[in-house]
Formats: sequence, structure tokens, C-alpha cells
Amino acid sequence: MIVVGVEGTAHTFGVGVVDSVGWRILSDVRSTYTPAVGSGILPRDAAQFMGENAGETIRKALVDANVGWSDVDAVAFSQGPGLGPCLRTAATSARALALYHKKPLVGVNHCIAHIEVGRVLAGFKKPLVLYVSGGNSQVIEFNGGRYRVFGETQDIGVGNMLDKFGREVGIQHPAGPKIEVLARDGGKYLPLPYVVKGTDLSFSGILTAALKYHKEGERLEDVCFSLQETAFAMLCEVTERALAHLNAKEVLLTGGVGYNKRLAEMVSLVASEHGAKFANAGKYNGDNGAMIAVVGALMRRAGLETPIDESQVYPNQRTDDVEIVW
Ligand code: AMP
Ligand code: MG
Repeated sequence: MIVVGVEGTAHTFGVGVVDSVGWRILSDVRSTYTPAVGSGILPRDAAQFMGENAGETIRKALVDANVGWSDVDAVAFSQGPGLGPCLRTAATSARALALYHKKPLVGVNHCIAHIEVGRVLAGFKKPLVLYVSGGNSQVIEFNGGRYRVFGETQDIGVGNMLDKFGREVGIQHPAGPKIEVLARDGGKYLPLPYVVKGTDLSFSGILTAALKYHKEGERLEDVCFSLQETAFAMLCEVTERALAHLNAKEVLLTGGVGYNKRLAEMVSLVASEHGAKFANAGKYNGDNGAMIAVVGALMRRAGLETPIDESQVYPNQRTDDVEIVW
């Protein structure tokens, strides 16, 4: 089955084409909105960017995949969670494609797409998932037909924490990748609030304390190093607690912050100490249309379809709102 996936929840308008036979990703085209230095994502600007780039991104994804619309079995789109204006723009594109080309439409939960792309590519069955992106930071287990949240941030996502720190110190969005590079030249550990409450986390105190160190003249490299070591150790602690409690045999790291090599190293160590296999969503960690297409194909194979008049977006949809019937 060949599915076109349309992603548009925050910064990236992505279109991917996937063949569910052997889970071949035929194309993955991303158009990414970059806010000005000193600014974060402005939802209306991001949506405007998506509208302007949608046509070309869709066209290129089909050309790269070398498929025509007659080969396509369904159109999937990110239905939630995310920024309302962005979600609505992507949904409008997907509805237009489905109606014009007479293809079934499927609404996909963005968080589950981050999980499923990593899971199918790794060939995992029931991984314990550490999902870390801008807006979300969750430790997730599959249980009783849903992806259940074992632990999560009680305030901002870890990526958001990194991006906000970057914004205040003059690093352009997204700051995560630049903080990773700076941290490699740091080595002096500056104590930061380590907030793990049972299985939940909090990152806003780290942000405040790290900005204070920066103002006091500590080297940016050392502050970045300390930020990463503290936040990632917290994520590893909750992952390890879940791993021991659930006796999981597979651990999957996914979401944009999953690109971070230091985090991947730490999580893979936790997994190996518990005799669990480790996989990372690799180049599909960040927002992309291929992951939406993967879930679209899984949903279509289970006979699901989202009628146009039920295709409204859900900006606050949760990972555990969705029943996994595939
Ligand atoms: P997503 O929305 O899943 O694409 O994730 C976006 C988030 O990932 C942003 O907050 C980025 O700063 C963060 N991110 C991307 N690459 C890295 C990296 N190498 N290290 C840390 N964070 C990263
Ligand atoms: Mg995401």
C-alpha cells in the first residue's frame, strides 16, 4: 500500500511517501520554517510559511518517490497535537489532495507517528519509548491497546527548554543542535535543578538556573554541557524506572531531541544495562511526512478512514487518547 503523509504541527511542513510492503520510505521532503534570531515559533507565521510551501513540497515528494497519484492508496495527515494554525493548514492541504484525487483520508496522531516510524524501521514489537521533542517529553509503554504515558514533563518539553535557552542567549531556533555542538567543548559541571517526581519531570527550573549562570559570566560551552547532562540524566532516570518496572526488552528513542548523540549514548547504555535492545528513529527523529504516512498505512490496513467532516484538527490530542487497533 502506498500512502502520502502530510505533516504540519509546528516548524516543518513535511510530505513523505511510504510503501507499507517492507516499510520502504520512498520520499521524505521537508520545508522548515526558521524564526528570526531572538524569536521562537510564531504560529501564524509558521502556518503562513506552510501555506506558501505546501504545493512545491507535495509535488517534490511525489517526484522523489517516482509515483503518480494513480499509485497512491491513501492520504494521511497530522490531525493533532500541535499549533492550531499549522495543523489547519496541513489538514486543508491533505483534504484537498484526498478530495481531488479521490483517495481515502486518514487523520494521524503526531506523537504516535514519531513512535511508529521508529518501531517499524527497527522491527520492534512493543518497545518502551522515550519520545522527546520540542513540545513533548514522554516515557511511553504499549499496554491494553494504547500507548500509555508512564511519565512525562509537567511543564515544558526538553526541546522547548533548549530552544528557549538558545533564544535568550542569541542562538537561532532550533537551538538543540547548536547546544549539542557547544556542549562538546564544555566540561565544567554547573549544578542545575534535577527535577524528577516519581515518573514525571520538570524542565523549567533548569532553564531559569542555566540563564542565571550565563548572566553571571560562566562559559556558554559549560552551561550547555551542564544543561544536557542534567536534563538527559533526568530522562534516563525515568526511562530506567519504566524499564525495570515493566521489564521491557526493547527501548526506542524518538522525536527531534533524539538526534542528540549524547542522549542516544546515555539511553542506549541504560537499555544495555537491562539487557534490552536499543533503537533510535535516526533521520526520522524530527518531524517529517514519512512518519505520518507510516501510521496512515497501519490505519488503512486496519480499515480506518477519517471522513472529511470528521477531519477537524485536535491541537491538544494526547498520545493515550488514541486506540491502537493495528
Ligand atoms: P521535532 O518537533 O520532533 O522535530 O523536534 C524539534 C526539537 O528537537 C527542537 O526543540 C530542537 O531544538 C530539538 N533538536 C533537534 N536536533 C537536536 C539535537 N541534535 N540535540 C538536541 N535537540 C535537538
Ligand atoms: Mg514532533
